[in-house]
This record gives sequence, C-alpha cells and structure tokens, in this order.
Amino acid sequence: MARQLEPAQENPFIELGRLLSEESYKRDRKEIRLDNIVIDILRKDDEQVVIGEVKKSSRFEKSAMMQLAFYLSRIRDMGVEAKGELLFPKERKRIDVTLSPEIENELKSAEEDIRKIVSCESPPEARKNRYCKSCGYNEFCWA
Ligand code: SF4
Repeated sequence: MARQLEPAQENPFIELGRLLSEESYKRDRKEIRLDNIVIDILRKDDEQVVIGEVKKSSRFEKSAMMQLAFYLSRIRDMGVEAKGELLFPKERKRIDVTLSPEIENELKSAEEDIRKIVSCESPPEARKNRYCKSCGYNEFCWA
C-alpha cells in the first residue's frame, strides 16, 4: 500500500485474509467463494478458523469428507490452518474433519487418479452406478 501499490483484490489469498481480519467478524459467514471453491460456512472459534460444509444427508459421507478435506488443504495452501465441520442439519449430525496424514494420502491418491483420467485422450466409458441419479454430469453420460 506504501507507494500506492495495492495487491490485486481478487487474489484468493488476499480475500481470505480480508475475511478473517474484518472487525465485524463475529458470526458465521455463509457462501464464501475463494478461487475455485465455495465454502458454505466460515467462522473463527477464538483463534481457530473453522470451515463448515452443509449436506442434506450423510448418505455420501465419505465423499463429503474428502471434499471438505480438499478445501482444508486449499486453505492451508493460502497460509491458513483451519479445521472442518461436516454438518447434516436434518440429521442433527456433525463430523469434525482435520487433515490427518491418512486423509492427506487419500487426497493425494484421488488427485493422481483424476490427473490420469484428465490426461486420457477420451474419457473412460461411463458405467451406471448408484450415484448417477443425483450426479451433476448425468446429462453428459446418459443423455
Ligand atoms: S452420471 Fe456421474 S456418477 Fe454416473 S457415470 Fe456419469 S459421471 Fe459417473
């Protein structure tokens, strides 16, 4: 800011810092967009940053957990250690998620698998499974 130089305001690192340092930061903030992720809930418990992911049901608990772990790892890349909360309001259920070495290994291996698929000339043949009905890519696979 000295010499009238200001950082790019749309930079996700700066946006996260701004959100976490605002004076009015008292209650949960909802729907925060940072780079390529959308955080449902962001708050501070004392000095601990907490990000929450809200789901309708715990049916796909494992994938929800991995999604939240990915967010935690992206936020850590931005210099902030946070903990995660997976929330299922209809079931009155909450699961704490942290970046344990096991989860980090799973994330790494999922990312490697994704990279392999992305580098293929054509996508693997679609196979109907129990997730297809509610999958956002349904039309691409089965239209
Ligand atoms: S609809 Fe979704 S879950 Fe089903 S095969 Fe396609 S991408 Fe996979």
